[in-house]
Amino acid sequence: MNKKTVKDIDVKGKKVLVRVDFNVPLSKENKGEIADDSRIKAAIPTIDYLLDQGSKVILMSHLGRPKGEANPEFSLKPVAEYLANIYADKFHFLPSDTVVDEEVKAGVEKLEDGELALLENTRYVAGETKNDPEFAKELASLADLYVNDAFGTSHRAHASNVGVASILPSAVGFLIEKEISLMGKALEAPEHPFVSILGGAKVSDKIGVIENLITKVDTILIGGGMAYTFLKAQGKEIGKSLLEEDKMDLSLSLIEKAKENGVEILLPVDVVVADEIKDGAETEIVDIDSIPADKEALDIGEKTAELFASKIKEAKTVVWNGPMGVFEIKEFANGTNQVAEALAQSDAVTIVGGGDSALAIENAGLKDKITHVSTGGGASLEFLEGKDLPGIAAIEDK
Ligand code: ADP
Ligand code: MG
Repeated sequence: MNKKTVKDIDVKGKKVLVRVDFNVPLSKENKGEIADDSRIKAAIPTIDYLLDQGSKVILMSHLGRPKGEANPEFSLKPVAEYLANIYADKFHFLPSDTVVDEEVKAGVEKLEDGELALLENTRYVAGETKNDPEFAKELASLADLYVNDAFGTSHRAHASNVGVASILPSAVGFLIEKEISLMGKALEAPEHPFVSILGGAKVSDKIGVIENLITKVDTILIGGGMAYTFLKAQGKEIGKSLLEEDKMDLSLSLIEKAKENGVEILLPVDVVVADEIKDGAETEIVDIDSIPADKEALDIGEKTAELFASKIKEAKTVVWNGPMGVFEIKEFANGTNQVAEALAQSDAVTIVGGGDSALAIENAGLKDKITHVSTGGGASLEFLEGKDLPGIAAIEDK
């Protein structure tokens, strides 16, 4: 990784503006309650490092979609209360409907070395998502240095990342460093065999990922809803399974491209079928040549799960994106869970990207056994597509 990190810049006594991802889920019953604090926890190492170094830390984040205006429903107040519990009187919440104003500036001026402040939701201001230079200037005026540690929004060019980075000296925090060094290494210098497992609902969501990986991996295992477009294109009866007719040609050309690159593509050899997608649905495992015309394939079958697990077992690098079935429903979660288990048992470098795949790993309680589960859904997908993420590209090189 050639981006400056917090360790490459002198932060002592400096005011450091840090973009974090505090876009936490709030519980539906009790609006003020944080339902899952893992994103806050993920930001703590960078915050604590800066405080230990004697910086004055100014945190900023978005929360939900207030659509460019102040709205208490999307206030970062619950996060402020959480931080006040950890940092006590070292912490100061500086809320403003315009995020930055004279009072906020005065509050920042009063910070002592080793203290931290939190600004209000950056998306209270319409200029945030438009990367408006005026708003970026206002934010940048608060600090001497900028640190981006919000991986989950790095695929967007907003005022609080790209805008501020174009004004202040910049670096990435530990979370982004981990994301891009682990995923970057897996993609750029993988140990072979390199196996990728791809699934999820649609081929169209994953074209970029397949096209990028097809030149790097040894084997691609395809499951999930997208598998049926590939199977149909090869002449199989898929019943009522998910089909993107307009992607059948593309799936054939991807298979062709894989052949040219000496990449093995494996599709399901058996599947779990049902009449409908619902809890308690009656299911049956059938061979891939025997999908009934009136049924829908909603998970990979036992033989396929074993086949995929055996490929994962031989691998030295594994990248997984997209569940093998409708894992939200118990009856169709087996394939996804078995793949998750195979990753957990593997000694390979294992990387999981994508919001739903990360959730599946989390649900299975296997997160600790995976080398890296990416914290950014959309951002990790774009990373796997080989795209430059603007919020990271904007940071100074070493
Ligand atoms: P990720 O967020 O990990 O990138 P996706 O969003 O692409 O994954 O895909 C997840 C969705 O794919 C899940 O909601 C799951 O129910 C759906 N899915 C997986 N397999 C099937 C299938 N056979 N039929 C219909 N939907 C499926
Ligand atoms: Mg998803």
